[in-house]
Amino acid sequence: MDINSMNIEEIVRQVLAGMAGNETPVSAGAGIPKTARVAVLTKPENFELKEYPIPEVGDDDILVKVEGCGVCGTDAHEFKRDPFGLIPVALGHEGTGEIVKIGKNVKKDSAGKDVKLGDKIVTCMIFKDNPDITMFDLNKQNVGGADVYGLLPDDDIHLNGWFSDYIFIRKGSTFFNVSDLDLYSRVLIEPCAVLVHAVERAKTTGILRFNSRVVVQGCGPIGLICIAVLRTMGIETIVAVDGEPKRLEFAKEMGASKTVNFKEYKGIEALAGAVENAFGGHLADFAFQCTGSPAAHSNIYKFIRNGGGLCELGFFINGGDATINPHFDICSKEITTVGSWVYTLRDYATTFDFLKRAKGIGLPMDKLITHTFPLEEINEALKTNLRMEGLKIAIINK
Ligand SMILES: [Zn+2]
Repeated sequence: MDINSMNIEEIVRQVLAGMAGNETPVSAGAGIPKTARVAVLTKPENFELKEYPIPEVGDDDILVKVEGCGVCGTDAHEFKRDPFGLIPVALGHEGTGEIVKIGKNVKKDSAGKDVKLGDKIVTCMIFKDNPDITMFDLNKQNVGGADVYGLLPDDDIHLNGWFSDYIFIRKGSTFFNVSDLDLYSRVLIEPCAVLVHAVERAKTTGILRFNSRVVVQGCGPIGLICIAVLRTMGIETIVAVDGEPKRLEFAKEMGASKTVNFKEYKGIEALAGAVENAFGGHLADFAFQCTGSPAAHSNIYKFIRNGGGLCELGFFINGGDATINPHFDICSKEITTVGSWVYTLRDYATTFDFLKRAKGIGLPMDKLITHTFPLEEINEALKTNLRMEGLKIAIINK
């Protein structure tokens, strides 16, 4: 904020309050309006911008001015037909912004890093019954079962989602100071954490190594980020499979060595042959299944060598049953399979370093965000996502 636009009286008051050990929350003062706009999904395919008063910030709370928030597949499902029964709901869980008011008890983030006014943060899970939890306590628990801002039922506070001007972070929330990442990187943290988690799950098989041949099926944002995470781990022989030439081209930019367009092959034998050719006459050591298509799950076993491994992460929601042949696909080939869903707090923190490494080795992470919209155009943003245009869509506040 511009110092000239700050109310001098407010600054003096804060300084005096600080000297006297007064318990008023530290705040950017005059810059904060009385109300905030929140995009509330009031019925399917209809967000309304509602204006709510900004509540008093208590000793354990944080008020954040939202800078941006990615649109997730989960948001798109909820927007279309409310499968989670959340309406009316303030959506947006891939958000980031700046602390403009902070309670006196809030000194450190969930990684133990100092936080202060002006820092940029992201939120992770909310543990109401365990407010002092940090990333070091929760190695094995993934986000399933915990609450998340942007998927909360509406309440008296209303400022519960990141598709808004301000969000109100309460006691029991995990959050991280990510002031050292740029805005687009911060918007990408949540989807990237999904892939950091998936690769951690894959590593538990003991099959994934530096020189592994890896096939990534599906080149939407999840598959593309999967390739990026593998590249930052030093895995270089990656074959990407998709049906869209544009996405396959981007997969190459992300570091895939070869691509296979499944639409150019009739039948699974021909497709598996194309994958084998792309690896120079070998099947994959390891496969990541990043689509929500049951047929894609059935097919992927044919790409994997005897004794290889598979990480299935495409079925974020129920996409129906898939048929496999237990003898040929798993048993006789001795395939080791892991499932992966969302992430843990620890993965979230790992993701910050991943984003820095990805930039460091020149991966075009920013290009994943293909469309941005202001908050007023949130309905259009969600409709763009439903039309499957572009890759990642984000709301960016001015
Ligand atoms: Zn998400």
